[in-house]
Amino acid sequence: MPVFTHIDFDHHEQVVFGHDPASGLKAIIAVHDTTLGPALGGCRMWNYASDEEALRDVLRLSRGMTYKSALARLPLGGGKAVIIGDPRSGKSEALFQAMGDFVDRLGGRYITAADSGTGVAEMQIMAQRTRHVAGAGQREAFDGGSRDGNPSPSTAYGVFVGIRAAVRHRLGRDDLKGLRVAIQGVGEVGFSLARHLKDAGAELWVTDIFEANQRRAVEQLGARAVGQHEIFGLDVDVFAPCALGSIVNPQTLEALRAPIIAGAANNQLASPELAEQLRRRDCLYAPDYAINAGGIIDVCYERTGGSTAALKAHIEGIETTLAEIFQRAEAEGATTTAIADRMARERLGR
Ligand code: NAD
Repeated sequence: MPVFTHIDFDHHEQVVFGHDPASGLKAIIAVHDTTLGPALGGCRMWNYASDEEALRDVLRLSRGMTYKSALARLPLGGGKAVIIGDPRSGKSEALFQAMGDFVDRLGGRYITAADSGTGVAEMQIMAQRTRHVAGAGQREAFDGGSRDGNPSPSTAYGVFVGIRAAVRHRLGRDDLKGLRVAIQGVGEVGFSLARHLKDAGAELWVTDIFEANQRRAVEQLGARAVGQHEIFGLDVDVFAPCALGSIVNPQTLEALRAPIIAGAANNQLASPELAEQLRRRDCLYAPDYAINAGGIIDVCYERTGGSTAALKAHIEGIETTLAEIFQRAEAEGATTTAIADRMARERLGR
């Protein structure tokens, strides 16, 4: 299995393989870049088909975290961890304690957090063995209440302000009243986003493969439920993907009519060339890692103990960053993804 010549190897500072026979832990941590600070990124647990697949994921995801944090103006670098195992059947306290020890051995160069297949409970187990873990405790919520370390409300708020920037740029309006928005996936982030949009007066269409989540949006927010495939072709102002990646692909592109794509999902474009196709169709795409940075900002503030007011203001910076991306892309006739990448590299001095 090549590492230094791997196609996704991008001058990563450190790639470490961890194994604990007693608990069955097999994991990889990749520290991509610590120019701006310690490498923070989630710990994913997935039933990878091969070690090679796990390596590829950790190399790509850790690089993505460097760019995301740089663009969000955070004092953090990029890193990621993957545990090779089935998140439904392979979890144990011993496994996550061993993972905590593995993280700890990097001495704080890597800080872990929840990701697909892990959550607050696993972070709490790792926190027994290392202090280099985020999202394990209770904290103040935006509304003054208390919540666990789940960063989803912050991610949703960032997507909401990002949609505001996109609407201002593409549709020339500040007011979201009557804005028509289609949301794919009304889980943690999608539902919270829907609530912000509803409060701002938007009209909502939603789809979710989990019927209870779809019903919750209909009953609590007055959203209209549509079928899984119908969501793409709706005559709406904004399509907000908040479910899964690769959702903009040659098939969905045919159907998509919205002039704006802005949502929380990671890796929304199935391939990089699609950004240019969207640009030619005058469809404004909010780069996923720019608009969904609310979660990492939240995690960073938890680490540094910043106030909820300061956190909120930092998340609102996503609106300014996106406005700059949109303006530069238009002025240069470039894609929004190319500009976002360039702005991140500028901030890194790369
Ligand atoms: P979630 O699992 O709570 O919600 C996702 C929802 O999408 C679920 O209700 C699921 O049933 C639904 N879904 C899955 N496939 C679907 C399909 N084909 N059609 C319609 N609905 C479908 O996850 P989440 O935490 O809300 O995250 C949503 C997306 O945002 C993910 O792609 C995640 O990687 C990304 N993201 C989340 C955060 C965060 O803070 N939670 C941060 C950055 C990015």
